[in-house]
Amino acid sequence: MMIDKKDTIVYELCGKTYINLTNSCTNECEFCIRNIKDDVIGKNMWFKYDNIIGDDVIDALNINKENLKDEIIYCGYGEPTLRLSALIKSAKYIKENFKNKKIRLNTNGHGNLVYQTDIVPQLAQYIDSVSISLNAQDEETYNKISKPRIKNAYIGMLDFVKKCKKNGIDTTVTIVTHFKDYAIDVEKCRQIANDLGVKFREREYLNNGY
Ligand code: SF4
Repeated sequence: MMIDKKDTIVYELCGKTYINLTNSCTNECEFCIRNIKDDVIGKNMWFKYDNIIGDDVIDALNINKENLKDEIIYCGYGEPTLRLSALIKSAKYIKENFKNKKIRLNTNGHGNLVYQTDIVPQLAQYIDSVSISLNAQDEETYNKISKPRIKNAYIGMLDFVKKCKKNGIDTTVTIVTHFKDYAIDVEKCRQIANDLGVKFREREYLNNGY
């Protein structure tokens, strides 16, 4: 497949619209798609300059406005909350200009640790649902598989889950199964989700990233 070398901010996958905000992340997950390929369905996901601002996203949305799907998902090749102002500005724009679109945030849940403040009330103004990478049943396993570059990442992520739920965001925690021989205990992870009162989704690792 030919890879389009241009920066990709807005792209489409499986009937949904995705937004790529950054290539930065506070984790280095073993199973991250960024380790195995540079593109999603032929779209280059690495930015030449990793400095996307809200207006860049708004421009990209307007270029694609005829083709935007019902659900718009902040995801991409990095952690979207690391570009918080671009995320908030563009999500507000979507809600005000593209009616009836649902917005989902896929995140590692480190946002409050990064900013050392609770960003969830800000997100809750525009984000309908959030998918947070639980990744493991305990901190030790999480640290092995996700290699966080931030202190207290697992505990901070769990607290982020609680705050999303408390702020009325439709909240799901996710795990990736069948990746190498990592000892992911699916039932313990499911129990964590139940105890937190949030949804649970397990996704089998697929090395094409789809
Ligand atoms: S949190 Fe997501 S973007 Fe970051 S390293 Fe893990 S899989 Fe990749």
